[in-house]
Amino acid sequence: MADTHSPQVRSYNMLRIRSMNTQPEEIVRKYLHSKGFRYRKNDKRYPGKPDVVLPKFKTIIFVHGCFWHCHEGCPDFVQPKSNQDYWREKLNRNRIRDVENIGKLRIIGWRVIIVWECELTKQHRQESLDRLAAKITQTAPPAKRQI
Ligand SMILES: [Zn+2]
Repeated sequence: MADTHSPQVRSYNMLRIRSMNTQPEEIVRKYLHSKGFRYRKNDKRYPGKPDVVLPKFKTIIFVHGCFWHCHEGCPDFVQPKSNQDYWREKLNRNRIRDVENIGKLRIIGWRVIIVWECELTKQHRQESLDRLAAKITQTAPPAKRQI
């Protein structure tokens, strides 16, 4: 497919790289590692190839870009003004896929935590990561659901 990225999307991608210095999922992994958590990454056996899988805590973490995963109400999520139909459809597909993957994981007994990219800007990073660690360790994983 041709380069359908609108200037808006391109500048989002540039901004993302600049404000983070490193990939958001790497920020989360490095933090978890420093706290002694052991995880698998991008495990293909699970729906959505989760960024982080913590078997001991039966917890899966997705680190989501606010634009690509449609972070509702977030200033980083704005529908592009050019190629509107293309983008609406594409982003909608992403959204549906996310909901499906999370649903599948929960049904088989995983707790799923979404970390949004905007929570990882320098200003909010430490607080967000500490909150994440607390969520992983303090809450009991959900009971296996019957279908
Ligand atoms: Zn966001």
